[in-house]
Amino acid sequence: MQLTVLGSTGSIGTSTLDVVSRHAGAIQIFALTAHRQVDVMLRQCAQFSPIFAVMTDPEAARQLESKLKSEGLATRVLVGPDALIDVVTDARVQAVMASIVGAAGLPPSLAAAQAGKRLLLANKESIVLGGQLFIDAVKGGGATLLPIDSEHSAIFQSLPEDPRVWDSRIDKIILTASGGPFRTRDPATLSQVTPQEAVAHPNWSMGRKISVDSATMMNKALEVIEAHHLFGVKPEQIEVVIHPQSVIHSMVQYRDNSVVAQLGTPDMRVPIAYGLSWPERITSGASALDFSQLNALTFETPDLRRFPGLQLAWDALNGVQGGSAKLNAANEVAVESFLNGKIRFDQIHAVNAEVLAQEGHIQPQSLADLFELDAWARAMAEDWVVRHGQ
Ligand code: NDP
Ligand code: MG
Repeated sequence: MQLTVLGSTGSIGTSTLDVVSRHAGAIQIFALTAHRQVDVMLRQCAQFSPIFAVMTDPEAARQLESKLKSEGLATRVLVGPDALIDVVTDARVQAVMASIVGAAGLPPSLAAAQAGKRLLLANKESIVLGGQLFIDAVKGGGATLLPIDSEHSAIFQSLPEDPRVWDSRIDKIILTASGGPFRTRDPATLSQVTPQEAVAHPNWSMGRKISVDSATMMNKALEVIEAHHLFGVKPEQIEVVIHPQSVIHSMVQYRDNSVVAQLGTPDMRVPIAYGLSWPERITSGASALDFSQLNALTFETPDLRRFPGLQLAWDALNGVQGGSAKLNAANEVAVESFLNGKIRFDQIHAVNAEVLAQEGHIQPQSLADLFELDAWARAMAEDWVVRHGQ
């Protein structure tokens, strides 16, 4: 199988290449893509010999080209966001791992869907922004969509293979959440949280953006929206439960109140390996659960005073069309502003709630509308940061 990895230098990208390295005979790398991390990309090219390496940043592309040349490596460098489309739609590519962070990942994910590829989707922002249009592109292009987000992979593994029976059998989807680093912190002190504290997740090692999202639980809000689109369930059929040990990765409750769950150590190589091998199973490199060491599995209801952002998922899904797109854009700006020291941690929610509540903009009917709405919401969020930030 020829695979393109979008965002290969990130947390999911490197875990994907780790799994691929265990199955070198069966999976070949067609292309790798990154934004700026030239040296990581250089090492990946030396190890996996892709035909193409894309750097979306032009200066990084120039540097990579000269370094590849001086090391005598044959990988060809392509530059810019358009090249991402070329390396997913190429007829030689069978599978695409979509692991770019943020809405920047939507155009290539959508192109892979339209081109009918096997699409391993880690980039949740692209389905939150793309919504039904994204699902329609998957259906229209005849693509196979395999969720990589651990919760959605767990649900996918707990559901029957035939999606046509899902609607008549599912009662609800139960998404588990670790609760992140601030699960037990006094909500009154959340205004003092530093970026360093916010990115230090207790159970998972991830990129900076999703780590902050986990600390606010906006990650779970995005996952509620993601589950709604992936599994065709109504917003009120989705429930979130805090499970600090991150052993149960999510569950499906059926009409008869039987609950099916997927368990494992918290290691993204498990959902990645399943995405690569589905419907078969291959080794992932993850360690097995040791039940003799598991003292207790505990569950809590999320405290909305500590995690007010969680509620925004239902507000967005039950409100006017385009709410999810607005929420995602606001959150990307808010997280970036927090990491750059422009706003406090608790102000991330203020930005998101304010932008989501803004009315009077277009009801998106097309992808162009969605990108217009995305840009509009980003401008609103940036304006908020300028007015209220430090
Ligand atoms: P990282 O920040 O670790 O990696 C992001 C990747 O995207 C890097 O390769 C980066 O390149 C590239 N990139 C960043 N900005 C752009 C851009 N504007 N255009 C093109 N490429 C870009 O993120 P993660 O791997 O943690 O997350 C990736 C996605 O997967 C996110 O959507 C996240 O929500 C989702 N996900 C992640 C999980 C995890 O465990 N990490 C779990 C579940 C979902 P460079 O390195 O050069 O900057
Ligand atoms: Mg997840």
